[in-house]
This record gives sequence, C-alpha cells and structure tokens, in this order.
Amino acid sequence: METTLVLLKPSCVQRQLIGEIVNRFERRGLRISGMKMMQLNEDILRQHYAHLVDRPFFPGLAKSMMASPIVAMALTGVEAVQVVRDMTGFTNARKADAGTIRGDYAMSNQQNIVHASDSIENAAIELARFFRPEEIFDYHSAVEAFLYGAGEMG
Ligand code: UDP
Ligand code: MG
Repeated sequence: METTLVLLKPSCVQRQLIGEIVNRFERRGLRISGMKMMQLNEDILRQHYAHLVDRPFFPGLAKSMMASPIVAMALTGVEAVQVVRDMTGFTNARKADAGTIRGDYAMSNQQNIVHASDSIENAAIELARFFRPEEIFDYHSAVEAFLYGAGEMG
C-alpha cells in the first residue's frame, strides 16, 4: 500500500467542488487516511513548489494557492501515487483528458483544482510537510477484500 498527498486547491474550494472531488477518489476505492482544511502561507508554498520558485509565474501561483483555505488529503491504496496522478490529469487543464479531474472540472494551467504527489519519494516528503504523524490514520478498510484480488495487496 502507498499513501499519497492531494491538495484541493482554492480553485476547488471556491467553486464548491470539494465533495465532488472527494467522491471521485472514494468511488475509485482509495481510502482517505487523513483530511483537513488549512490556510497556506508563502513559507510552505516555497517548500512545496521549490522546483518552481524561480519561474515567472511563481508569485501568481503562490497568490492563487493562498486565495482561500485548501483541503489536504492523504489517500491510501495499492500504487496510490500513480493511480491518483493518472486521475488528476495533465497540468494544463485545457490539455487534460476528459475523464480526469482536471479534464472534467478545469480550464486553466494554474487554477487546476488539485495537486497530487508525483512520486513515492515526494509523497512521503509532502505528507510530512502537510500532516503531523497523528493526523494520518492507518485504519483497516472493511471492503479491502472486495477492492483487491488475492495477492494484489503485497
Ligand atoms: N503552474 C502554473 N503555470 C505553469 C506551470 C504550472 O501556474 O506554467 C502551476 C499549476 O498550478 C501547477 C503547479 O504550478 O499545478 C505545479 O506545477 P507542476 O509542474 O508541478 O504541475 P503538477 O504536478 O501540478 O501537474
Ligand atoms: Mg508537481
């Protein structure tokens, strides 16, 4: 099992799409192992988007990410990092496939509704950035035997 980080960005919260997006992850079979609303600040965004701080769009990106609270989620499942990334779709929502979250709900390269960790290594780093250890719950899912076949859970 892997756990990955998703952020429901201000573009999701403001458009009142929290429930719809959470529903998509739940329907897929991902287990919510942590969830909370947070107000981000420049400090955490400089860490979270360290690969982008020197890009000309960073100030606008940071502003858009602080425009309202966000919802941070920890999602758990077999190969959850890649599954969630695939559900998220291409960064520029105008280029994202229909059927992905960005392809179904967004029109922007920046206001693209969700963040999802892009690797197992980054998922661990990002989960530790947004959650304290006691805010992530390793509970048993009662339907696991019907979500996965024998041997698939490793
Ligand atoms: N972004 C932007 N302009 C760009 C590229 C990215 O505003 O030209 C924003 C966008 O909100 C994106 C975030 O920066 O989701 C992080 O960029 P990254 O390349 O990591 O894309 P992601 O992993 O979110 O698909
Ligand atoms: Mg990224």
